[in-house]
Amino acid sequence: MTTSNETQARNFLQEIVAEDKQAGKYGGRVHTRFPPEPNGYLHIGHAKSICINFGLAQQYGGKCNLRLDDTNPLTEDTDYVESIQRDVRWLGFDWDDRKFFASDYFEKLYAFAEQLIRQGQAYVCSLTADEISEWRGDFTTPGRDSPYRNRTVEENLDLFRRMRAGEFPDGKHTLRAKIDMASPNPVLRDPPIYRIRHAHHHRTGDTWCIYPLYDFAHCLSDSIEGITHSICTLEFENRRPLYDWIVDALIKGERPHQYEFARLKLTYTVMSKRKLLQMVSDKSVSGWDDPRMLTISGLRRRGFTPESLRDFATRIGVSKSDSWIDMGVLELSIREDLNERAPRAMAVLRPLKVVVTNYPEGQTEMLEVANHPQKPELGTRQVPFSRELFIEADDFQEVPQKGFFRLAPGKEVRLRSAYFIKCEEVIKDAAGNVTELRCTYDPATRGGDSPEGRKVKGTLHWVPGTAPTAEVRLYDRLFSVEHPDKDKDRDFKEFLNPNSLEVITTARVEPMLAQAAPESRFQFERLGYFYADPKDSTAGRPVFNRTVTLKDSWTKEQAKGK
Ligand code: ATP
Ligand code: MG
Repeated sequence: MTTSNETQARNFLQEIVAEDKQAGKYGGRVHTRFPPEPNGYLHIGHAKSICINFGLAQQYGGKCNLRLDDTNPLTEDTDYVESIQRDVRWLGFDWDDRKFFASDYFEKLYAFAEQLIRQGQAYVCSLTADEISEWRGDFTTPGRDSPYRNRTVEENLDLFRRMRAGEFPDGKHTLRAKIDMASPNPVLRDPPIYRIRHAHHHRTGDTWCIYPLYDFAHCLSDSIEGITHSICTLEFENRRPLYDWIVDALIKGERPHQYEFARLKLTYTVMSKRKLLQMVSDKSVSGWDDPRMLTISGLRRRGFTPESLRDFATRIGVSKSDSWIDMGVLELSIREDLNERAPRAMAVLRPLKVVVTNYPEGQTEMLEVANHPQKPELGTRQVPFSRELFIEADDFQEVPQKGFFRLAPGKEVRLRSAYFIKCEEVIKDAAGNVTELRCTYDPATRGGDSPEGRKVKGTLHWVPGTAPTAEVRLYDRLFSVEHPDKDKDRDFKEFLNPNSLEVITTARVEPMLAQAAPESRFQFERLGYFYADPKDSTAGRPVFNRTVTLKDSWTKEQAKGK
């Protein structure tokens, strides 16, 4: 992320932090945190949050903690903890020695809960979960006081300690903050802050059978860590009064404040970890890092760079109102980045054989091809040219449609950085399919230019007849509708795009690509940006994922008024 914001207007979070710093609040300290729950892999929405939290710390000389918010033993796992760290680091951020787990604070949180009880601000309630939500009322109906609301401090302390000691089954009692059952904000109607869960926790094992709820654990974890600005998404806005109530009740002196921004919503995708997990579990995708998934690990495997995701985060900005971001914006970020850095190469996805009949049999010459049209410093490479080569099957039409300027019988085109060739004869198999083209070349056009200034309209990419084969994976959007989870009565998976992955095993690539190191990136001329798959590609047997096409494939279609 750009650390200098001189040229950009400040977003509202930067305003707040800058003003607080200016005013000497927290002694000028800025301390944020990124607090994922380790119950799934991080997605592009988390990337936004990471860039905001770590970015603010960088910009204002502060610190950002990584906090694993592991208060729910049922859904959390160490594999997720590992993946989260990998993804944050890969994005380019560092928490130094400040990796924390909310579970490390269980003892402190428990002490805070007892303090709340002693202050008469929490009580053990013995209503069932269903009863609690029924008695809570809703936006139009006020809540009713629990019959257990007036238990004495002694009774509450005794019951809470016995809850901890494991005397009761799940659901028998809960600890609730004693706030206001008639509050217009239902969040403040005596929210549960501890519940009984006889469950094994991935870090604390069986030490605990009561676990704090998010509202209680989060603000206090922030306080324990000395967080100044606790930044979260808008759906927590109505919980801010609860955040403040708990902190005010328990923390003396400097305390954190919560600020909310609009979460990232992207078209043609789902963003909830629960839904992503569902697709992984039922094998709708190959895993959390399936290149069609908008998880950070999926995007990485697809060939996105950390720079492109940080650029995306900057581009979409930070605001306080929800809006949909078009997938074209994400594509633009990666395309611009790869345009700069990816060396060019040639590959043919659906090869059609071309025999250059006037080229001497048995001869091979090496043609020098630039690795980047605008960057001579990226050098050149040698591509062998001989009598046989391959072009893309759809670069030939026997009866050219109007406006088709590529190869057709009697027509001449340029082979990129090679020669002009002219189609003289079309060879077909018994079924009438075109299997080979016989062409002639003009030796005077070596390098791809005609000395007498003869023009051709088409320039084709090509590979030599000896080109090795490679596997190429072409990805399309994972869902075929813009808002797959809009309709609550339909399963979002009904909208999976059945054509989101096309695997081509018979592509031909220029010789140097056969040795491409896993994780290397190229622009295949005219086809897009490709990434040698980190898991399945080996030097000698390359597998290329298409990261993105050369032109916008999303907004174009939307502009057509689809
Ligand atoms: P999900 O709804 O995908 O399960 P979550 O909010 O439950 O996400 P957490 O692990 O709690 O996931 O999120 C960690 C941080 O990332 C939180 O501060 C959360 O606000 C932020 N975050 C989650 N989703 C998005 C998003 N789409 N855009 C921006 N920030 C997000
Ligand atoms: Mg969450």
